[in-house]
Amino acid sequence: MSRYAIVYDEKLKEYDLGHVLKQDRYQIFINLFKQKFGSHPDFEIVSPSYATENDLKLIHTEEYIRRVEKCESKDPYDTPLSPGFVRGTKLLAGAGKLAGEVVQSGKYEKAFVVGGGVQHATRNHEKGFGVFSDVGICAENLMRNFGVNRILIIDTDAHAGDGIYEIFSKDSRVLFISIHQNPLTLYPGKGFVDEIGEGHGKGYSVNIPMPPGSGDHTYEYVLNEILIPIAEEFMPEIILMVDGSDPHFTDRITQMGLTLKGIRSIGSIIGQLASKICEGKVVDFIGSGYSDSLQIVSLGWLASIVGVTGIQIELEELKPISRDINPNNGLKEAVKIVRRVKNKLSHYWKCFN
Ligand SMILES: [Zn+2]
Repeated sequence: MSRYAIVYDEKLKEYDLGHVLKQDRYQIFINLFKQKFGSHPDFEIVSPSYATENDLKLIHTEEYIRRVEKCESKDPYDTPLSPGFVRGTKLLAGAGKLAGEVVQSGKYEKAFVVGGGVQHATRNHEKGFGVFSDVGICAENLMRNFGVNRILIIDTDAHAGDGIYEIFSKDSRVLFISIHQNPLTLYPGKGFVDEIGEGHGKGYSVNIPMPPGSGDHTYEYVLNEILIPIAEEFMPEIILMVDGSDPHFTDRITQMGLTLKGIRSIGSIIGQLASKICEGKVVDFIGSGYSDSLQIVSLGWLASIVGVTGIQIELEELKPISRDINPNNGLKEAVKIVRRVKNKLSHYWKCFN
């Protein structure tokens, strides 16, 4: 039996916004995946179904679903709605839900949602290329229908996961950690250290704004200082990851400094953490990346898969790493940010006392 599910269907090509997010990315990724892993017995491509009305209602309001179905967008520049795109976003939501189910039920140890990781959409607002929250639906379905009580969401996409934050900020069953480029320098302008959740969820959201240009070692440092201790104290039953390729140094819309090795290393840290605390259960949403080259975007997604699963294969950069891309970039500032994050959360977590 295969251990890992790649959740994907060709119909995802309708998830195309006509701007930096175009459909070619999915096919190019699948081609590369097949080239590298085509006959690997540990992997299986699993086709999702469209999310049903009830699936969407796990997170979204009925009024919102109706408005989206009429293609009346309130974010028409970034997230224009068309019937095909709306179908695409329902497919992605279905993919997120299925990925959570096959991992939680033990059918697969890990699942990868190709094109997934809607970060900015809220319960009633489409935003930043996303409409229906695949991550939110995945988590809420596990809590409501699978008896899961503790979920860790770790989001290392270059943008802050402000939508995911808003959805779960009052819920202490979901520990949400977002590591992202300083929101003073990048969309969505949210995700500061003092955003730590509200009400019952206070202390269960962690926002780590990183200096632009942060390199591989800087990310590793932050994960080791914040993610590992808090996760070991929280003891999630499953880990959801939102990553993708937009922290890669070639990205056109962000300014971070990760190499493929760094993306792989993030995956590896999280994969090993999952083995230690939650029987290896991981759902990884891989969707972002806006390099000129979709080959690079695909390689970033593959680097995440390789890191999380620990499979040994070589991945080579397609563009030379210039001298200003240093793995320690941003480290000095990150040390200070980590200190501020720990101070802010020390009241809620013993590990930060
Ligand atoms: Zn992003």
